[in-house]
Amino acid sequence: MTAKILDGREVAEALRQELDAQLQSFKQRSGVTPTIALVRAGADPASVSYAGTIERGFVKRGMGFVPRILPETATQAQIVDTVSELNAQAVVHGIMIQEPLPRGVDPAAIIAALSPEKDVDGVHPLNSGRLAQVAPAGRDPGVGHYLVPATPAGGLEILKHYQVPLAGQHAVVVGRSNIVGKPMALLLLRENATVTICHSRTADLAAVCRQGDILCVAIGRARMVKGDWIKSGAAVIDFGVNFADGKMCGDVDYDQAIEAAGMITPVPGGTGPVTNVMLMRNVLDAAMTQVCAGGS
Ligand code: NDP
Repeated sequence: MTAKILDGREVAEALRQELDAQLQSFKQRSGVTPTIALVRAGADPASVSYAGTIERGFVKRGMGFVPRILPETATQAQIVDTVSELNAQAVVHGIMIQEPLPRGVDPAAIIAALSPEKDVDGVHPLNSGRLAQVAPAGRDPGVGHYLVPATPAGGLEILKHYQVPLAGQHAVVVGRSNIVGKPMALLLLRENATVTICHSRTADLAAVCRQGDILCVAIGRARMVKGDWIKSGAAVIDFGVNFADGKMCGDVDYDQAIEAAGMITPVPGGTGPVTNVMLMRNVLDAAMTQVCAGGS
């Protein structure tokens, strides 16, 4: 069997068309340009490159991009002050904090300083808490407005786009970070999947992975998940972004997995392109909520 490719570029294009229509209608109604502010201290090359990707995407869609670049010697108090200043600016609707932060700066303190309404990365405890508490799909509506991290939100969009059944399916998520693994598990739980979360202390990881009708992998280790870890016919979402032998690759050994899985996201061209659109969607969502709350 050769797996069907879950084409992230195709999903991203469909989501972009939806986003463009909503964006134009919102801008016409409100006169507001949804805008993201990006806070970074220093010039880590991967962060600089990612910031460039975000800027190009936002400018192309007619959305605002405000960089706030501090020196790599910036203190926690200076970064918190920058975030507080952006919280207060009505023209900024979303704030993203880029890591790595300078040595000695506590990421939790910076995240806590974010206004939850502007937390377009979905990392503030109010947003992650609401995702954890939301009622499952099909029950009473949730717990109030919340923002979900763009990468796992995109993973779910890929599964939905390709009509992968979720309710009652066994989903195995490898990785438990606050930005990918844990929110992906909570999204699948919200969709009524039965979810197992794995991490570096999981015993016999391969055997647990083999149970997944859906296998989502966010580890950060090149090609770690092998073909014989995958249940025959499973849908595999590979969030990994690694560089090995001079090439970009995922956390799943794609050449092996394609023979075992029923469907799989490639790397590149899988979750990455969808993440970028989901971030734009979060900024539009945040702008709509803020304009609505402001009564304009
Ligand atoms: P983190 O390093 O924050 O988390 C990695 C997780 O993998 C941890 O929960 C860790 O377990 C687990 N892990 C590490 N080694 C093993 C192992 N040997 N066996 C089982 N579990 C293990 O990474 P992120 O969640 O931020 O990112 C994961 C991957 O996703 C990376 O490749 C990253 O580049 C990529 N990424 C992709 C994005 C996209 O748009 N596609 C966006 C963001 C990230 P423990 O908790 O026990 O330490």
